[in-house]
Amino acid sequence: MAKQWTEQADIALRADGARVADLDTASTPGFSGDKRLGKELLAERARVLSVLQEKLFAHGRTGGKRSVLLILQGMDTAGKGGIVRHVIGSVDPQGVDHASFGVPTEAEKQHDFLWRIRNKLPAHGQIGVFDRSQYEDVLVVRVHELVAQAEWEQRYDQINAFEKEISDAGTIIVKVAMFVSLDEQKRRLRERLERPDKYWKFNPSDITERAYWPEYQKAYQAVLDRTNTEYAPWYVLPADHKWYARLAVTELLIAALARLELDWPPADFDIAEQLRRLDES
Ligand code: AMP
Ligand code: MG
Repeated sequence: MAKQWTEQADIALRADGARVADLDTASTPGFSGDKRLGKELLAERARVLSVLQEKLFAHGRTGGKRSVLLILQGMDTAGKGGIVRHVIGSVDPQGVDHASFGVPTEAEKQHDFLWRIRNKLPAHGQIGVFDRSQYEDVLVVRVHELVAQAEWEQRYDQINAFEKEISDAGTIIVKVAMFVSLDEQKRRLRERLERPDKYWKFNPSDITERAYWPEYQKAYQAVLDRTNTEYAPWYVLPADHKWYARLAVTELLIAALARLELDWPPADFDIAEQLRRLDES
């Protein structure tokens, strides 16, 4: 653990008992360094992540059945896209299965809410990354009563059972809930309106949703209270500081991959013999 970390990210950010409404979104749990150090460390740790990811990929290529699934949840502007670009972007793209989940399409609506999620689960040896997820079905759906309460109430248990199943099948699940303050969100939305390179990210409904902030906090709290399990733990990530959020998710992924204790696959050929053949060729 680098000295700027006073506590490992996967311990400092564990959701156990977390209160969403009390979260200091500008805090940097477990990390005592500043932005400059954070960025320096990110570059260094990205290389560690990249090696671990390659081991996972090699494991998958040689018949291994393990995978990692990173679930990113957060309100608009929380920085989910930045995690994908800056954290996931540092590893080999052929080892990444990325999926984002928006308003369900007509085809998706013909199925159970977990259907589209199941379809995007990472293959063996892959790091799956979900930008939004099954949790939208107990977040936006709950806040706007898109289905009856009797239906969304059941989904917490359904999600737990689903995650247990994929965890038992060999997937390490890492769930990250990203939070920015209402002020920080305003600043980021303003930027989307002031910079032509950011217009494409803006959606007028993002402003409408700000009025539902307390309802979203309540819905996020219910998610943390009811779906934070041993096999699929939640991490609560204060995300006002993008450099911290990116560094912390890098550490969470390193910890998840390290738990697999993967080594390079051994040669399934006689090395001496192949060297001899090569020399003679
Ligand atoms: P974005 O991630 O900015 O592209 O926005 C995707 C939008 O899709 C967000 O407003 C989500 O709340 C919405 N969304 C995602 N999943 C669902 C769902 N299951 N039901 C309704 N809206 C959803
Ligand atoms: Mg958006």
